[in-house]
Amino acid sequence: MRVRFWGTRGSIATPGADTNHFGGNTSCVEVTTANGDLLILDCGTGARQLGAALMAQGKKAINANILLGHTHWDHIQGFPFFTPAFVKGNSVAIYGPEGSRGPLHGVLAGQMEYTYFPIDLTQLPAAITYHDLTEGIHTIGGARVATQFLNHPAMTVGYRVEADGVAIVYLVDHEPFSDALWRAGAEPGRIDSILHEGDRRHARFMADADLVIHDAQYTPEEYPSKKTWGHSAYDYAVQIAAAAGVRRLALTHHDPSHNDDFISDIERKARTLALQCGTGLDVFYAYEGCELVLEPRSTLKPFVAAAPFQASVAQRHFHILVVDDQPDMLTLIVRALEDDQYTVSQATSGLEALRMIDEHMPDLVVLDYKMADMDGMAVVKTLRARPRTQRLPVLMLTAMTDEPSTRAGFEAGVTDYVTKPFSIPQLTARVRACLARAELVIA
Ligand SMILES: [Zn+2]
Ligand SMILES: [Zn+2]
Repeated sequence: MRVRFWGTRGSIATPGADTNHFGGNTSCVEVTTANGDLLILDCGTGARQLGAALMAQGKKAINANILLGHTHWDHIQGFPFFTPAFVKGNSVAIYGPEGSRGPLHGVLAGQMEYTYFPIDLTQLPAAITYHDLTEGIHTIGGARVATQFLNHPAMTVGYRVEADGVAIVYLVDHEPFSDALWRAGAEPGRIDSILHEGDRRHARFMADADLVIHDAQYTPEEYPSKKTWGHSAYDYAVQIAAAAGVRRLALTHHDPSHNDDFISDIERKARTLALQCGTGLDVFYAYEGCELVLEPRSTLKPFVAAAPFQASVAQRHFHILVVDDQPDMLTLIVRALEDDQYTVSQATSGLEALRMIDEHMPDLVVLDYKMADMDGMAVVKTLRARPRTQRLPVLMLTAMTDEPSTRAGFEAGVTDYVTKPFSIPQLTARVRACLARAELVIA
């Protein structure tokens, strides 16, 4: 399997003399399998040069599979300049997570409205198909492709591509689920010592991969002031990849304010940290034009997902109960969920919530931890003790970011644990992930 980086920058294209080495184009990675299947991970501005290179090969027909992690600008802006889409006889299959506002086709058509671009999406001569994905295992080209939700203020998936006896995992635009990576008292460096279930799932998804391409937009010093923006610092990526037994780690989605000298410097620090982890993990910062050939190995075990396939939730209608005793916060969350077309009811205390759940079972409860009469943890414990609500998904909101609180939340049976401050798009993406995962349990 051959992997080539065409775009490594995050957020916005950053050309210039001091970004020449690591690159100024936004996210785009070309993956070619041994039998010639072409998978393109993200379609940032790097996709323009990739398209030109594919055309220059003079093939009779180009069949491209574009796998979008999500549809923020820096991941789709290269698509209107991807020349193979402008040639009849070529085919382009576009994949992306469902649950952004509207289907993938509509979201991509939006950036090609005449206000923004002179050619309408429907006018492109290549055969273009759209595939909205949820979590699960898919076949794309000849490859086995697993998807899993990431933590980002938009519906975002990571991709694990398995083909030719090799696994590469693309985890771009993702931030840690929790401030602390390890459980207190547990041996660091092991997947089962990871504190937050989300981070543990993230580690399992990349386990034993030959190559992981991971978001590392920030330094550990920068991250605290950029929390909830949806990106990682290199220390998180290095530690989690080492725990997961990953062989090689390419750090990417470079911050626009980081020039080549700065990235070279943090690359040294990331390598030192990897050495300290002691697992033999090879770390580097991805640069434009970087090409890797991954040799097959017989020891590769196919990834086994927690659930084999999650059915689409796009057509389903959900009822969500929001419980918070602070009126401003309650209104903010209710409005955001109503904007996403959910039916939302609200309660201002734990007791009221339990009564409402008895009367009418919601699909999900968004529950504040700290409330005056009965706190969120007591509500969860009550729900888990009753057979009818044992598996009712509960997303807990809390300002308590300390390790014991997070651990207590998961031990009590919380489905997901979101710490304040959070952003509204981050919360709605986490709500969507909870609903997508819950569907199979309830059905
Ligand atoms: Zn991005
Ligand atoms: Zn993004």
